[in-house]
Amino acid sequence: MLTIKRLRPSASVICSCRTTQLFTKQIRAQSTSTSSTNKNEKIEYPLLDTKFNQYQIAYRYRRSIELLRGYFVYRLFSINFLVNNQTQIAKWGQRILGTRLFNSALKLTAFGHFVGGETPREITPVIKRLQRYGVRPILDYSVESDDAETSSTSLDQHNRMHDHNANQFIECIKTSHDVCGPNNLIAIKVTALIRPLVLKKFNTFLKSIENRSILPSIFELMNKKQKNENMIESFQQSIKSQNVVSKNISLTYEELTEIYNLLIRLNNIAQASVEQKIPIMVDAEQSYFQIAINYLATELQRYYNKNDKPFIYGTYQCYLKETSNFLERDLIQAEKYNYIFAAKLVRGAYMDQERRLAQERGYEDPINPTFEATSKMYHACLDQVLQSITKRDLGQVRIMVASHNEDTIRYAIQKMKDYNIRRGSSLVSFASLYGMSDYVAFALANSGYKTYKYLPYGPIESLQPYLFRRAQENRAVFEKADKDRRLHLKALKDRVLHLKI
Ligand SMILES: Cc1cc2nc3c(=O)[nH]c(=O)nc-3n(C[C@H](O)[C@H](O)[C@H](O)COP(=O)(O)OP(=O)(O)OC[C@H]3O[C@@H](n4cnc5c(N)ncnc54)[C@H](O)[C@@H]3O)c2cc1C
Repeated sequence: MLTIKRLRPSASVICSCRTTQLFTKQIRAQSTSTSSTNKNEKIEYPLLDTKFNQYQIAYRYRRSIELLRGYFVYRLFSINFLVNNQTQIAKWGQRILGTRLFNSALKLTAFGHFVGGETPREITPVIKRLQRYGVRPILDYSVESDDAETSSTSLDQHNRMHDHNANQFIECIKTSHDVCGPNNLIAIKVTALIRPLVLKKFNTFLKSIENRSILPSIFELMNKKQKNENMIESFQQSIKSQNVVSKNISLTYEELTEIYNLLIRLNNIAQASVEQKIPIMVDAEQSYFQIAINYLATELQRYYNKNDKPFIYGTYQCYLKETSNFLERDLIQAEKYNYIFAAKLVRGAYMDQERRLAQERGYEDPINPTFEATSKMYHACLDQVLQSITKRDLGQVRIMVASHNEDTIRYAIQKMKDYNIRRGSSLVSFASLYGMSDYVAFALANSGYKTYKYLPYGPIESLQPYLFRRAQENRAVFEKADKDRRLHLKALKDRVLHLKI
């Protein structure tokens, strides 16, 4: 393999920026002390092809039969009729084949390609194969829900289900610790832990409060009162007093109790995260939950990201018009309260649904008008965070570039150079979804960048919404899906020609 002393910027990533270089000396000086591998000048990295065509590197972790499946799945996703009618087709499929046969068919195709498995045991070999090529898994036990609720489900049943989901996330933390080793990550979804209708109302409640930074540190409050028998009472008092601030909306006693139960679940998950040294990523979801989810994630950070290691990561969706403002506010708050700001930047996965709901219900579309506007915001948000890295002590601001977009990856790589952030630094890392754009992820990992893969697992039924989103996404960005398909085929042909089957 071709190696060089230190990666020279390829033509596509060369540019220099005087202003950032003023800050970079400081970062470089500080980062040398963080890791023994940080003798910048001496590390030899394999050359990174910034056009990301290295299929020989991309699919080493896949067996030949999996390459064939990948090619087939991407072919299926290019059929508009299938993607447009996927929910209906899934229903027919289940009716005609029966649930068991239908699930087996899914497992042999899309589920098999985009999902690690159904149980910790099934995902273990997948984790090992990712790690073998330098890619770190982010375990994602997939449970989520939206606002459609069946009236036949009682509050007690909901509570039991949400407790069960919280325990599953804690199990996921343990699995990550035992199988992946410490310092890997797991992802959680808040909608798995509370009734969506209540989360939505909490969202509206928080939205109506002009200055949320006046609210007390909610997890500090909880952990201080852990042994107090009247904890529910005092929690409700503290939220009720905030109701005064919010003039337009108040929460009922039952809703307050449900929110309180959510906080307990989140607190338990965060404590398990600290015990096992496995940080949590709080996923971003639909915009009508997002103010609440973002509030909870930043509150968790405020309490749990106090020392030199971040245990909680938030998520910023750059397709939302408001994201840059929210990000600015949260960076300022992290500095003010002196905790580690850690987050992943994504474009956003619910665009079709968001646009449809805005149109149906007659409110302003929360999504940027064009793909270009979303990309511009993504890059601007990344700039904001990088600026913040230079302002605060080393390690107090960390960002994960969670994207498959090659321009964005190149942009981030160039910015790392401008700011003199070494590859392998935990200040800037990269992440993609299992089964997508392996030609980017494995190339980055091969060249020394800190690289992660979201690895969803769980029961087939609960992963269907996730698979539907993957199909929509791959249809929407045709060139990327086309490249994935072509490179799968190339890698497969290569193996057949060289008898490496
Ligand atoms: C590790 C990881 C974690 C993730 N976690 C989350 C999460 O917590 N929450 C979440 O919502 N998503 C999450 N995603 C999914 C992510 O939001 C995107 O859906 C997906 O990654 C595709 O975006 P991309 O950056 O890879 O680039 P591309 O595929 O180049 O961009 C596609 C995206 O651009 C945006 N877009 C496309 N067309 C338009 C248009 N006309 N106008 C405006 N915007 C447009 C949409 O967001 C679309 O998904 C995650 C992705 C990764 C890789």
